[in-house]
Amino acid sequence: MATGAGWAPARPVERHGAPRGASPRSKSVAPGPRRPSPSPARSRPAVNHSGSADSCRVRVAVRPRPKNSEDLAHGADFNSCVELQPESKRLKLKKNNWSCESYKFDEVFSENASQKRVYEAVAKPVVESVLEGYNGTVMAYGQTGTGKTYTVGRLGKDDPSERGIMVRALEHILSSLSFETDWVAISYLQLYLESVHDLLAPEKTNIPIVEDAKTGEVSLPGAAIVEVKDLEHVFQLLQIGEANRHAANTKMNTESSRSHAILIIHLQRSTRRKEESSSSLYNDRHDTFPDDLPLVLKSKLLIVDLAGSERIDKSGSEGHMIEEAKFINLSLTSLGKCINALAENSPHIPTRDSKLTRILRDSFGGTARTSLVVTIGPSARHYSETSSTVMFGQRAMKVVNTMKLKEEVDYEILYKKMEREVDQLTSEMERQQKVIRSEKMQMDKRLKESERSFHDLRMTSNMQIENLEKEKRQLESAVKKLTQDLDKERDQNNLLSKQVTELEKLLNENKQQQQLENLSKTKFLTDTTKEHEKEMGELLRKLEEERCCSSSMKDRMSVLQQQLCDAQSSAQLQESMAREMEKKLTKVTEEFTIQVQSLKEKVSGLISEKELIYDELKSTQEKVQQEMSQRQDLEDQIVRLKQSVSDNCAEESKTSCSMVRSGSGLGNTAFVSKSGKLREALSGQRGTISKIFEEVGLPNVLALLKSEDLDVQIHAVKVVANLAAEDVNQERIVEEGGLDALLSLLETSENTTIHRVTAGAVANLAMNGSNQGVIMNKGGARLLANVASKTDDPQTLRMVAGAIANLCGNEKLHLMLKQDGGIKALLGMFHSGHTDVIAQIARGIANFAKCESRMISQGHRKGRSLLIEDGVLTWMVAHSTMFSASTRRHIELAFCHLAQNEDNTCDIIASGGIKELLRITRESPREDTRNLAKAALDSNPAFLREIQ
Ligand code: ADP
Ligand code: MG
Repeated sequence: MATGAGWAPARPVERHGAPRGASPRSKSVAPGPRRPSPSPARSRPAVNHSGSADSCRVRVAVRPRPKNSEDLAHGADFNSCVELQPESKRLKLKKNNWSCESYKFDEVFSENASQKRVYEAVAKPVVESVLEGYNGTVMAYGQTGTGKTYTVGRLGKDDPSERGIMVRALEHILSSLSFETDWVAISYLQLYLESVHDLLAPEKTNIPIVEDAKTGEVSLPGAAIVEVKDLEHVFQLLQIGEANRHAANTKMNTESSRSHAILIIHLQRSTRRKEESSSSLYNDRHDTFPDDLPLVLKSKLLIVDLAGSERIDKSGSEGHMIEEAKFINLSLTSLGKCINALAENSPHIPTRDSKLTRILRDSFGGTARTSLVVTIGPSARHYSETSSTVMFGQRAMKVVNTMKLKEEVDYEILYKKMEREVDQLTSEMERQQKVIRSEKMQMDKRLKESERSFHDLRMTSNMQIENLEKEKRQLESAVKKLTQDLDKERDQNNLLSKQVTELEKLLNENKQQQQLENLSKTKFLTDTTKEHEKEMGELLRKLEEERCCSSSMKDRMSVLQQQLCDAQSSAQLQESMAREMEKKLTKVTEEFTIQVQSLKEKVSGLISEKELIYDELKSTQEKVQQEMSQRQDLEDQIVRLKQSVSDNCAEESKTSCSMVRSGSGLGNTAFVSKSGKLREALSGQRGTISKIFEEVGLPNVLALLKSEDLDVQIHAVKVVANLAAEDVNQERIVEEGGLDALLSLLETSENTTIHRVTAGAVANLAMNGSNQGVIMNKGGARLLANVASKTDDPQTLRMVAGAIANLCGNEKLHLMLKQDGGIKALLGMFHSGHTDVIAQIARGIANFAKCESRMISQGHRKGRSLLIEDGVLTWMVAHSTMFSASTRRHIELAFCHLAQNEDNTCDIIASGGIKELLRITRESPREDTRNLAKAALDSNPAFLREIQ
C-alpha cells in the first residue's frame, strides 16, 4: 500500500528517541541505564517477515463476553442477533429473521476463549515486532461492559490464567530482553475530556503531547517513564495506575468507561548492524554508518483501553453538559474518523482533531504494527452497539501500516571500541619500534664483529707468510748441512772397514791363545786327580791299620772271654766281677763296631765321591768341547757382532778363570760329605754346572735325562740333582717335567748310580713344600720304597731315607705316604745299620710325629698315630738308646709327640714306652725335650697310674 496510507505524512518519518523526550520525570521514576545523546537516527521500512500484505494491515479480532447473571436474568438471546463462526473467523449479524450480514475478521473468538489465546492471537505478533524495533499498538474497542478492561488491563496477580494483554506483553518483553544491553520502561496515562493525566504520577495533569516536526515522533515529555526490571514491579506500577485511575474518576465524578487508559512501553535494545547487513532492503539505502556499528533500536508499544463506544445519549444521564459529552467522545469519534479516512485511503487524515489520535499518530497504522480487539456483549438489547462495534472493526481492518524501524548509533560503545582499537594500535606500534631498535642493535653488533674478525684474519695471514719464509730459509740451511754430514759419514765408513780388518786379525790371535789355555787346564785336572788318588791311598792305608787293630781287639776279646769262662767255671765268687767285665766288654765292642762302621762309610763315601769326581771331570771335558763348538758358532757371527768381539773375549777369559778354580767331584747339596776340600771342590763345580746350565738351558738338560747313552744320562741326573739343591730351581725343574723324568728313571733304570743320584735329586726336590704333593701324587713314595727294597748301597739308602724324611714333614701327605708304603720302607732301611741312613730315618719319624701332633692339637686329625700301625713305636722303644746323640734327640722328640696324643696311650703303655718316657725326663740332654716328656706324662692319668 502507499506510504501515505498511514496517519503519518506521506514522507518517511524521521524520529528522535521518544523516551528521552519524556523528562522531567517523577520522583518514582528511575533513569534508564543508558541515555544516548541525540544522534543521527534514521528509520527504515519494516521487514515484512511473512511477505504478505496482511501482516502490514491493522489486525482486528472479535471477542464476545460470556453471559453474566444479568444477561441470563434478562433472558438475553445472543444467538438471535449474532452468530459467531470462530473456525471461519466470521461473524454474522442478523438484522431480522430473514436477512443477515457476515463479516470476516482476523480472529473471531468464542465466548470461552482464554486470556492466553486472546494474547497470542491479538498482541503477541505486535509485541514481537516491537522487540524487533518497530512501534506497535494494541487497542480494545467496544461498548462499556463488554470486557475491554478485562481483556487488556486485568492484572491476574494471583491467577496467571486471568492476566490481560498489558501484563502478558510486559512479561513477554521482560523475558526477551538482556538487562545488560537493553532497557524497558513504562508510562501509564489516562485521557479524559481531552486532557492527559499521569496514572503513575497523579499530580501531573494535562500533559502536553509533542510531535517532532522532522521525524513525526510523538512524545509526552511531562509523563513519568518508569524503568521496569521484573514482573513484580510491573504489578506494582499497574496497581498504582489502577488505583489512581479509580481515585481520579471519583474525584472528577466520572466513570472509567468514559476515559481512555493508555499504557506506553518504551523499549531500547542494543544491536549491531552486521546482523542485519545481509538484508537487501537495507543495503541499498543511504548508508552513512560503517558496518559493525553499535546501534540502538528504539520502539514503543501502546496498549489502549478505550472508553466505551456506546453513544453518549444512551448512557449519558450522569449530568454532564452536552459540550462535555462531546468532549468525552471526541477522541473516540476522531479515532473513528481517522480510521475511516485511512480505510478509504483519503489524502487527509484528521489526526490533529483529538488528543487520542495525536498520541496514536506514530503508533497506529502508518509506521507501526497495530492490533485491535473489539469486544461485544451477548445481549440482543445492545444489537445496534454491537453492530456499530463490528462495523468499526471492519473499517479498521482496511487500514494498512507502513512500518518503519528506528535505529541510532550507540556512540558511547563506539567510542569505547575505537579507544580500545587505538590502544591496541599504539601498543602494536610500540612493540614494532622496540623490535626495530633491537634488530638495529644486533646488526651493529654483527658489523663490529665482522670488522674485528676481518682484522684478525689479516694479521694471522701476514704472520703465516712470515713463518713460511722463515721455514724456507731454515730448510735450505738444513739441506746444506746434510750434504756436509753425508761426506763426513762416507769418510768414517772407510775408516771403520779398516778397523774391522784389524779386529779380525786380533781374533785369530786370541783363538790360538785359547787353545793353549785349554791344554794347560786339562793338565791341571789330571794333576788334581792324581792328588786325590794319593789321598785315597792314604785313607785306605789308615783303614787297613784300623782293621788290624780291630782284629787284635777281637783276639783280645776272645782271650778275655776265655779268661771269663775260666773264671766262671773256676770261681762263683768272681761272678759279679766277671759280669761287670762282660758289660765293659760289650760296650767296647759296640764302640768298636760303630767306629768300624763309620770308617767303612767314610771309605765308601770317598769311593763314591771319587766316582762322582771322575764323572764330573768327564762332563766338564764334554762341556769344554761344547763350549769350543759354540765358540766356533760365535766366530761365524763375528761379522755381524763387530762391536761385541771385545766383550766376548773378556767373558771367555773370565770363564776359563772360574774353570781353573773349580774342582772335580759331584754331590748333592743336601747330602754331600763335609770334607773341607770336597766342599770347596763342589762349590767350584756347582759354579761350573750352573754356568753350563745357563748356556744349555733347563729343557735341554732335562731332555738329556732320557738319553739312551747311560753316561750322558748319569751326568744329566747329576746336573739336575745339583740344580735341585738350589731353592730357586726346585719348582722350575718340576714345572718343566724334570720330576717326571727322574721318577721314570727310578722306575726303569737298573743302574745303581742312577738310583742313588736320582734319589738324591728327588730328595732335593722334596725339600720344596709345593713339590712334595706333586711327588706323592706321581707315586714318588712308592718308587722310592721300591728302590730302597732293592739296594744295600748306604748312599742310595741315605738319599731315599732323606727323600722320605722330607715328605714326612707334610701332614697332608701322611696318609698317602703310609698307604704307599713310605713309612714301612723308611723303617726297613734301618737294617742297613748305616748311621747316616738311621739319622735320616729318625729325622723322618720325628718330622712325622711332630706334624701329626700339631694336626691333632689343631683338631684336624683324630685317632691313633699312623706310625704305630707300621711298628714305628715298637722300633723306637727297642732302639732308642742305640743311636748317636742327634738321632736320639729325634727319636726322643718323636716319643714326646706320640705321647701327647691320648689315642696312643694304650699302645705306648703296651710297648713299654712309659719307661722310655721316664728315661727321657731324666736323661735327655736337652731341657726342652725333658720338659716335653714330663708334660706328656703328667697330663695323661693313665700314664700316671701306670707309673705308680
Ligand atoms: P468494559 O471495560 O468494556 O466496560 P469490563 O471489562 O469492565 O467491560 O467487563 C464488564 C464485566 O464483565 C466485568 O465484571 C468483567 O469481569 C466481565 N467480563 C468481561 N469480559 C469477560 C470475559 N471474557 N469472561 C468473563 N467475564 C468477563
Ligand atoms: Mg473498562
